[in-house]
Amino acid sequence: GIKKKEVNVLCLGLDNSGKTTIINKLKPSNARAQDIVPTIGFSVEKFRTSRSSVVPVYQLGPNRCNKLFQKYIVEGQAIIFVIDSSDKLRMVVAKEELDTLLNHPDMKHKRIPILFFANKMDLKEALSSVKVSQLLRLENIKDKPWHICPSDALKGEGLQEGVDWLQAVLE
Ligand code: GDP
Repeated sequence: GIKKKEVNVLCLGLDNSGKTTIINKLKPSNARAQDIVPTIGFSVEKFRTSRSSVVPVYQLGPNRCNKLFQKYIVEGQAIIFVIDSSDKLRMVVAKEELDTLLNHPDMKHKRIPILFFANKMDLKEALSSVKVSQLLRLENIKDKPWHICPSDALKGEGLQEGVDWLQAVLE
């Protein structure tokens, strides 16, 4: 039979940015959790994309320096980085988080795609995805394909567009 390609996707971003909500929306509806528990450690979820590839998503919590994180960075083939576009105060912290990731020794020379979700676009105070991209200095990422999508994870808007980009770039 045809072997479906499995891709390890890491879902990263500050707490409260919307990672759990996004992963939950991307999962098949029958697997969706009723109550979303905020991430403390990490969780592994699998969801199917429109083209039926199985995508295990590793959501990593704040404990970045441990061996487990190292292992997932090594095995990750794509990254989804979620930003709360309405959290202007912590935009600089999100940038530090991203820089730590990009400068990670196991990440530095890997040409893996990074999909950014400028999430919580529905909120009045949300910055545009262009503004988020400027604040995070995404134009400095030259050795990896990246893409930023505005999203509203509560309604599920923008998520499919992002996943389609990821799928296309992984093929
Ligand atoms: P995590 O800590 O990154 O996993 O974030 P969660 O997925 O738990 O989301 C944190 C909070 O933000 C929850 O109350 C979500 O309902 C809310 N949230 C997530 N995405 C959106 C969004 O696009 N818009 C709005 N308004 N709220 C969101």
